[in-house]
This record gives sequence, structure tokens and C-alpha cells, in this order.
Amino acid sequence: MFDWLIVGAGFAGSTLAERLAKVRGDRVLVIDKRPHIGGNAYDRHDEAGLLIHQYGPHIFHTNSQAIFDHLSQFTQWRFYEHRVLAMVDGQLLPIPINLDTVNGLYGLSLTEDQVEDFFASRAEPAAEVRTSEDVVVGRVGRDLYEKFFRGYTRKQWGLDPSQLDKSVTARVPVRTNRDDRYFGDTFQFMPLHGYTRMFERMLDHPNIKVMTQTSYQEIRDLVPHRRVIYTGPVDEFFDFRFGKLPYRSLEFKHVTLDQEWFQKVAVVNYPQTEDYTRVTEYKHLTGQSHPKTSLTYEYPRASGDPYYPIPMPKNAELYKQYEALARATPDVWFVGRLATYRYYNMDQVVGQALATFQRIQAGEPATREGA
Ligand code: FAD
Ligand code: UDP
Repeated sequence: MFDWLIVGAGFAGSTLAERLAKVRGDRVLVIDKRPHIGGNAYDRHDEAGLLIHQYGPHIFHTNSQAIFDHLSQFTQWRFYEHRVLAMVDGQLLPIPINLDTVNGLYGLSLTEDQVEDFFASRAEPAAEVRTSEDVVVGRVGRDLYEKFFRGYTRKQWGLDPSQLDKSVTARVPVRTNRDDRYFGDTFQFMPLHGYTRMFERMLDHPNIKVMTQTSYQEIRDLVPHRRVIYTGPVDEFFDFRFGKLPYRSLEFKHVTLDQEWFQKVAVVNYPQTEDYTRVTEYKHLTGQSHPKTSLTYEYPRASGDPYYPIPMPKNAELYKQYEALARATPDVWFVGRLATYRYYNMDQVVGQALATFQRIQAGEPATREGA
């Protein structure tokens, strides 16, 4: 008899498995339908021996000392600050939009103060900022919005930014200085030996059994267990009772080139041209030296594995119905990006899992008011 059946070996499932086994001494079975652990953060060495991310680029960043310290038990880190360029009007320019982006795009030589005036003179503030269009147009105006955000967003989501919640494009800041880092967080690091190694260490405990290539549906009635932690899509758990919750998918094209470098930074975005959204060159992230280089092209898709919850009012309404069911389901805890339908980064999922662990420790039931 297992104390816990944990569905999904990503950040949510693995963080909880480790805590339950190590702190409580509980017996835990972790299953994943994929042939590996790590969820979407899984990385592996490809045929050339280059470390790549199977499901697109994963860069760790957080402002939380507690989350950073927690993960530091399972990995050493490599200092890495992420930088991204966008191909706009035939030029590679920094994104997030900053002083150099504006000067480079328009052939200007503005100072920090002048670029603030430049934004103010073009911004079209909305009476109420609701959508992903409002956020950007209200800050930098329509031309920069169209060049850097509109096309990329339509490609990535299959929706116009005016249909998406403000939280989507608000992930990307606008700067008036020359800071060209993608994230502003206090802690920005890559796991020194990769994510998969970090997950292996998390799950390496005598009370934790791991079964990959095993789905919840095939095992739930076969393996006796007391309680469940479910980190897959919440609508699937309830057999799509209220209809399908939309998730956006991607197709990843991995290639290795017989040349040392391909591009100047780890990620180049294509907001105006190409069918793919971005190209990632892993050696910038990992620091690996190798005569060849491996890249991933991301092609957004309407169907396929669920990668992104789609933040818009209609979907939030549907999710609320599933959330109410989830809260009424005894002995099953729903945790993670797919199970709580939240566009969460890795650190936020770890934070959510640690908070769930605290509630379990406090003796709370899985059926509860408030998240
Ligand atoms: P997942 O990693 O999705 O794990 C859930 C697991 O459950 C999966 O392995 C799945 O196979 C398994 N599962 C589902 N249903 C079943 C079932 N019925 N039976 C058995 N197993 C099941 N975050 C960052 O912080 N920085 C980044 O740079 C970043 N880049 C990203 C890039 C892309 C392209 C994507 C898609 C996401 C990115 N993220 C990034 C977000 C990050 O991937 C997630 O926050 C994190 O991986 C979520 O962890 P999770 O455990 O909730 O879910
Ligand atoms: N975005 C954009 N142009 C860019 C970068 C981002 O329009 O060059 C928008 C787009 O809608 C994207 C969102 O901002 O989905 C969030 O970007 P982020 O890089 O955080 O996306 P993720 O890494 O999660 O795919």
C-alpha cells in the first residue's frame, strides 16, 4: 500500500514526492506517462552529445530565496543571465524593448530620459487595462506593439493580443535603460548538470518508487494507495465533463549543425517572419564547448501535448467549474501548471508544491475552501 500515488514526475510531482518521503517518511509511487522524469523541464544529451531541452528552452529564474535554497539541495548552479534578440525589420534587436531597441530600430540616439518621453508621446493608454494589447500599446504605442508583439502573439497563441488577458504580454517588461536581460529576477541560474540530473537527485529516496511510461488511467485501480497528487490536465481527470479546457501546444524541431555557433544569444524571436516563434541555441545556456551546435525551432500548434493554459476570460470561467469539482474530490490534490490551469514558471510551480506540502503537514483535507 502506497501512502501517495503521484501522477506526473515534473516539478510539481517531484517536489512533493521528495518532501513527503523525506520529511514524513511516507511511501510514494510517482508515475509519468512519458518515458522519462522531469516533465517539460526534461533535458538530455542528443546524438552529438550536446545537452538539449526536449520541450523547449527552460531558464530558471526566481525572486524567492526559499525556492532557490530548496532546489539547491539537488543541484549546483551555473550563473546565466538570459538574453534574447528579436528579428524586426531585418535587424536583430534586444527584447524586452529597451533604449537600444528604440535607437536601433528608428536610427535615433536618444538618452534614457528622452526615450521615456518617446514612449509617452506614442503610448495610447486604455481606460482600463484588460488585454495583452492594452498593456503594450498603453506603454510603448502601436508601432512597437505591432512590430514586436502582435505577430508573435498571433503566431504563439493563434489569437490576437486583444483576446488574451493582460498577464500574457505583461510577462515581458519595457525598459528605458540599456539592460538587455530577459528577466529581472534576483536569482538567475541553470542547473550545472542539467534538469534531469536535478530530478534524479530529488527522487532518489528509498521510499520513492518511480514508474515511467505509465498512465494514471491504466494504474489507478491496480496499485493500492491512500491519496493522490495529480499534476496532469484537470479536465482530463474529470473525463472532460464540462468540455475541453483549451491548452496551446507546440511542435519542437531539434537540429544539430556542423558548425560551432549559429546565433549570438541563446534565443532569437521571430515576431514578423517565419512559421516558428523562436530558435534556441543550447550552448549559450549550458556553457558546453563542442565543435557542433544544437538548436530547437518552436512551431505553435492547436493540438498535441498541452503546454500552455490559455489565459482569457472564457477559459477562466470553464476552469472555475473544474476547480470546484477538484475541491470537492476527497484525497486528491491538484498541483502544477496543468492541474491548476495557471501559466506558471518553474519556480512558481515549486512554490505551489511547497505550499501544498505545508497544508498536508497541517492536516488539511484535499477538499477545501480557497487555494
Ligand atoms: P509538467 O512539467 O507538465 O509535468 C506534468 C507531468 O505529468 C508530465 O510529465 C506528464 O507527462 C504527466 N502526466 C500528465 N497526465 C498524466 C497521466 N494521466 N498519467 C501519467 N502522467 C501524466 N518555466 C520557467 O521557469 N522558465 C522557462 O524558461 C520556461 N520555459 C518554458 C518553455 C516552454 C516551451 C514551456 C512549454 C514551458 C516553459 N516553462 C518555463 C514552464 C515550465 O515548463 C513549467 O512551469 C513546469 O515544467 C511545470 O511543471 P509541472 O510539474 O506543473 O508540469
Ligand atoms: N511576446 C511577444 N513577442 C516577443 C516575446 C514575447 O509578443 O518577442 C509575448 C507573447 O504573447 C508571449 C508572451 O509575450 O507568449 C510571453 O512571453 P514569454 O517569453 O514569457 O513566453 P514563454 O517563454 O512562456 O513562451
